[in-house]
Amino acid sequence: MNGYSFELITGPMSCGKTEELLRRIRRCEIAKKKIKIFSPAIDTRERGDYIKSRNGLAANAIKIEHSIQILHHVKPNDEIIAIDELQFFDSDIIKVITFLMNNGKKVIGSGLELDFKSEPFGHMPELMCIATRVDKLHAVCMKCGSEHATRTQRLINGKPADKSSPLIMIGGDEAYEARCIKCYELPDKNAVKTKKFSSMSLKLQDLVLR
Ligand SMILES: [Zn+2]
Repeated sequence: MNGYSFELITGPMSCGKTEELLRRIRRCEIAKKKIKIFSPAIDTRERGDYIKSRNGLAANAIKIEHSIQILHHVKPNDEIIAIDELQFFDSDIIKVITFLMNNGKKVIGSGLELDFKSEPFGHMPELMCIATRVDKLHAVCMKCGSEHATRTQRLINGKPADKSSPLIMIGGDEAYEARCIKCYELPDKNAVKTKKFSSMSLKLQDLVLR
């Protein structure tokens, strides 16, 4: 329960990040700590002013559009600051969390570490560096059942999405599922095309029949 800390919970889709965040929030409530909970306004999963895990746990949360707004809500006597979906916050979130830590607060956050292309999501890399504790949770692979899924597979109409697929899909049935590294697929149609048609800069005089 000590302040001056930042605990970060991360992992792929469906690994129980928000559930773990809510579990820690609940413990702080039992300990009668003063707590403020935030989530980004961009999170389309929940429209209401609360955060909710897939297993039905929930807590009231203040929706934030810019990181700096967190500081408008935190009062000097607040002890715990919980933040969900950290991958969606702007770069000022690093300074905001550092400021809160330096001022004796305990920050608990959760966020998706990789996007569907398996590339670092938003400012999660910097957040993982400044955190005083990082917990990486694993999900169950939706393809083979392995309990070590660390990747988030994007599916469009049931098929693995192409690397060049637009960030926001218009039409089409889009979904995400957790997968282990072995089952994770990222087709890159453009790369195949480039390989097939690219020149090898051959010189006529170097060609020979064997
Ligand atoms: Zn698998």
